[in-house]
Amino acid sequence: MNYYGESVAKLIEHLSRLPGIGGKSAQRLAFHIINMPKEEAEALAESITKAKNEVKYCSVCCNLTDSDPCAVCSSAKRRRDTIMVVENPRDMAAYEKTKGYDGLYHILHGAIAMTKGIGPEDIKIRELVNRLDESVKEVIIATNPTVEGDVTAVYISKLLKPLGIKVTRIANGVPVGSDLEYIDEVTLSRALEGRSEM
Ligand code: ZN
Repeated sequence: MNYYGESVAKLIEHLSRLPGIGGKSAQRLAFHIINMPKEEAEALAESITKAKNEVKYCSVCCNLTDSDPCAVCSSAKRRRDTIMVVENPRDMAAYEKTKGYDGLYHILHGAIAMTKGIGPEDIKIRELVNRLDESVKEVIIATNPTVEGDVTAVYISKLLKPLGIKVTRIANGVPVGSDLEYIDEVTLSRALEGRSEM
């Protein structure tokens, strides 16, 4: 039954497909958007289109970026002998907030999860291996402390060790099963400082 007219029903339908948004929340958001000032609603729609059109993967670290290479990869202030491997851009943002890390990153865009059919070739591991050269002295694996994150860490470690690169894993200060992006900055910094060789 379509109570609100087709255009509103369509908006609700699209919103309800977003992660974490159920039918009720989608309705609430849709009515909120409809009641917004026209300019604000248009700015929202435009920012979605613009982000979608202009964002791309950094050809070096696979971060999402408007310009390639991204701001971190092209910064002269970052040391280039250390690469921190994270699962997604939100984890990278979490580490950037600590201001305690001045190396480069590599964003995998996921973790190996065989039960979900996600293998090593489905995330950006090949891109990581391809960017390694003699200037890279250490790869810090900061995947999430979950089963998938650990499996991914071990896989990458086995892949890189024969290349003679030091591979470390962030310490256990990070609670098991948690997402890095929800962890406070002090804990993240400690986990980084306490990293150990794999
Ligand atoms: Zn980059």
